[in-house]
Amino acid sequence: MRGGSSESNEGVGAGSPTHGLFLMGQAREAAAAAYVPYSRFPVGAALQTASGDVFTGANVENASYGLTVCAERTAVFAAALAGHREIVAIAVAAPRALRASPCGACRQVLNEFAPVEGEMTVLLESEDGYQTTTLSALLPMAFGPRDLA
Ligand SMILES: [Zn+2]
Repeated sequence: MRGGSSESNEGVGAGSPTHGLFLMGQAREAAAAAYVPYSRFPVGAALQTASGDVFTGANVENASYGLTVCAERTAVFAAALAGHREIVAIAVAAPRALRASPCGACRQVLNEFAPVEGEMTVLLESEDGYQTTTLSALLPMAFGPRDLA
């Protein structure tokens, strides 16, 4: 099952350049599995959980366009279904657009699984590999599970 595979990367921080390139490579590979007959705009995502597991996702479109689901969310749902609740990093690759950034809906879904401590690193594909930002930079003053506690 694509997106359900996991690979342990314990001991390798999501912030390390080598690991960042690994995650971005996984995102690029995932983009090849995207189902995008309408937009022809494939996107892949690869996230790392707090335990070091990696999950991938790709966008899946639908003839009823509004039902399309983004790569980031398919990856998040795969991780959540495997029992993970904290995502420390996510790489997003869109072969047709460098620096493609998660949409608003995905930012909110990512926030649901933001690390309890520290930031979620977001890697965007760039000419020389990737550039990093954080979820809180992309979604400031987010409403999330802690607001309901
Ligand atoms: Zn999205």
